[in-house]
Amino acid sequence: MTPVPGFAEVALPLPLFESFTYRIPETIADRVVPGARVVVPVRRRELVGIVLDAGEPPPARETKAILAAPDPEPALPGPLLRTAEWMAGYYGTPIGLALKAMLPAPLWGASRILIRTGPSPVRKLGGLAGDLVEWVAQKGGEAPLAAAARHFRKPLWEVADRLARVGAAELVVAPADAEAPVRVERRLELVGERLTLVERGRRFARRARQSELYGTLEELGGSAAVAHLRDSLRFSDSVLQALVGSGLARVVELERVRDPFEGSPGSPPPPDLTREQTAALDQVDRLGPGAGALLFGVTGSGKTLVYLRAVERVVNAGRGAIILVPEIGLTPQMVSRVRGMFGSTVAVLHSALSEGERADAWRLLRRGDRRVAVGARSAVFAPVRDLGIIVVDEEHESSYKNGEAPRYHAHEVAMVRARLESARFVLGSATPSLETFSRVGARPDRPSPPPLGLLRLPRRIDDRPLPPVELVDLRSAATIRTGHAVPWSEALDTALAVVLERGEQAILLLNRRGYASFLQCPECGMVPECPDCSIALTLHRVPPGLRCHYCGRRLPVPARCPACGQAVQRARGVGTQQLEELAAARFPQARVTRMDLDTTSTRWSHHRILDRIGRGEVDVLLGTQMIAKGMDFPNVTLVGVVDADTALHLPDFRAGERTFQLLAQVAGRAGRGPKGGKVLVQTHNPDHPALKFAARHDTEGFLAHEAELRKNPPYPPETSLLNVVVSAGKEELALREAARVADWLGSLFSAQVLPLTLLGPAPCPLTRIKGRWRWHLLVKGPAEEIGRVVRYAAPRLEGRGQARVVLDRDPVSLL
Ligand code: ADP
Ligand code: ZN
Repeated sequence: MTPVPGFAEVALPLPLFESFTYRIPETIADRVVPGARVVVPVRRRELVGIVLDAGEPPPARETKAILAAPDPEPALPGPLLRTAEWMAGYYGTPIGLALKAMLPAPLWGASRILIRTGPSPVRKLGGLAGDLVEWVAQKGGEAPLAAAARHFRKPLWEVADRLARVGAAELVVAPADAEAPVRVERRLELVGERLTLVERGRRFARRARQSELYGTLEELGGSAAVAHLRDSLRFSDSVLQALVGSGLARVVELERVRDPFEGSPGSPPPPDLTREQTAALDQVDRLGPGAGALLFGVTGSGKTLVYLRAVERVVNAGRGAIILVPEIGLTPQMVSRVRGMFGSTVAVLHSALSEGERADAWRLLRRGDRRVAVGARSAVFAPVRDLGIIVVDEEHESSYKNGEAPRYHAHEVAMVRARLESARFVLGSATPSLETFSRVGARPDRPSPPPLGLLRLPRRIDDRPLPPVELVDLRSAATIRTGHAVPWSEALDTALAVVLERGEQAILLLNRRGYASFLQCPECGMVPECPDCSIALTLHRVPPGLRCHYCGRRLPVPARCPACGQAVQRARGVGTQQLEELAAARFPQARVTRMDLDTTSTRWSHHRILDRIGRGEVDVLLGTQMIAKGMDFPNVTLVGVVDADTALHLPDFRAGERTFQLLAQVAGRAGRGPKGGKVLVQTHNPDHPALKFAARHDTEGFLAHEAELRKNPPYPPETSLLNVVVSAGKEELALREAARVADWLGSLFSAQVLPLTLLGPAPCPLTRIKGRWRWHLLVKGPAEEIGRVVRYAAPRLEGRGQARVVLDRDPVSLL
């Protein structure tokens, strides 16, 4: 007697906390297993969903039957499915959204299902099956099943399933979006040697727009898409033509770059490990299944090679690996090293992939045709077969936390997934986050999460010294009047002059993009703010205007003060554009390049800039925190931090930690080669611990100091946090809802006698974003209790009425 197939729980790719019960037809019972894709009827549509459980007892209500199960093998292997379920529980996320993070969009949802002629046509097929096969052949071997159903005027799922089973047909879930064809892109590119500032002055004379266009092209790495110049940067056609006419630039047609990594051979690894690298690698090998370690190695200590060799051992043993990087566009050197080692077994999951390409990469990994996945945060879900190791590079980066539902942190997911798959994981950094560092070593008072091992690379390769860091106290140091509001000390000026004299390279960090921070009326003190976000607008030069750095809104520069009518407005604070002008004015012969979100807005412009630095075509690279990340250029002998205080006073308990990490990381870009190097840090707060410890390269000292600060009032890792953000279009509504949620949570805590503290409601530091007023509540307490609250509260609180309630567990930003 065949067992009764029973019922299945199916999740749909929708923000719903519940799953749905469907009857399993006997014919496809063997395919309806957890993790499998199934086609189910939902109202009048057919959707692709994921089976969570099969073999459930019959529910009370009447249920519909599953229509089809297109894959011979479940789309989501067991451990990934269980990781999604963990994520839904831990972060209080609808299971549909957790699964959505794991499967590329074209693989499920309201996709079209096609029937194709199968690999083994069966000769004598009678009845409806035969008619269907014939009809598909007439349609050219492929057609939507829905069209077939219309043609035959009956549902065809059962027949189609039977045909698929004998190989006479295939069921394919087609991407909802058609594949974008390869497009040709017109680019404007500079011709010949770069003009110096003096020559520029002569050639462009009064043609300011042409001069600006020339400068912009230079910043963008020598070329830019014509569409980008015209539409986003607002250069007119006549300006573009004039520059071409003068022979300084030309228009080229290129195939749109899909994957800049493709075709590049990658850089080969150094042949031998140092003794310390070998020791670290051996320790990775000794990690048990599911266990992990922190690779704590100073900047330039060769952490990458340890990751690569560890991954190599895993791959040689026939297993797979995931390497996570903070942002794939910012880490071309890392990607090139991975490519150099593993060649075509690597799938690079970057943001420029189309949905279809992403789905292709997903399938290649799922089938085991690619064994190593490299990518940002979401690559932690890559369906690598027989996963052996997960590496998280620069683990302290906050980009590992997802900013929207599911609000997961890639570390936590990596740990959970590693445990489920008996893989190992390695978190690497020169400046580990306090939360990670606190997990090192056993803590009998805190049995979970399990402790991390600690691997150290305390010295740089070839025993190169870490660069000396000098703090320049802007309150007393001799400064140069440059006519710009950028603080510019004699010490930094001299150091830069020396470096340029020697033909070496320098990096200048100013973590604020735009020309100046804000406009201020000298008469009444009024500062223009974003009408939506209540933060000061930033003044930009190219294209000219005021810009909100939270919602992106652009406004014209007002001719006079909107409050008092005063005509002159003063630019206050400094940004990277002003720093660029200053550098160009002080050092007219130097080739200066700026790198920030504005110059890297076109895809891969980052790449081009980094390539030019590597080829020695740039003398001074200046920019925002982007330039502090992972770059390895031996000829950089000076790093100047123009204003170390930009993030020191943000209303966030991690402000000190972020400042320390940024300083230590950017300092780590200096002196990576035999010529050595040094770091100058300009500040008004030379006594701040974040600066003092950074100046001594004393990461552990800083962490110990910071750990004390987090004890009272308690902040992570001392306590666990849940940020509850309530937002609404009207301020009273946001406030009222926040108060209601606070009452509700308060009575929940006291009824259940939960050891949790509730702070707020208070306005978020960014009181308004994209037109929504934001208030928040902060819950502090042990992780287990917070977990219970999240699981209980999430389905009851989120998305009620006109106010939106967001639960952000383990938040990385409280702004
Ligand atoms: P980290 O990530 O720790 O800052 P990297 O991995 O970028 O450091 O290594 C710094 C530099 O040292 C790179 O240029 C790398 O090629 C080089 N390097 C690393 N390991 C070795 C080695 N064993 N022998 C020679 N050079 C090495
Ligand atoms: Zn705004």
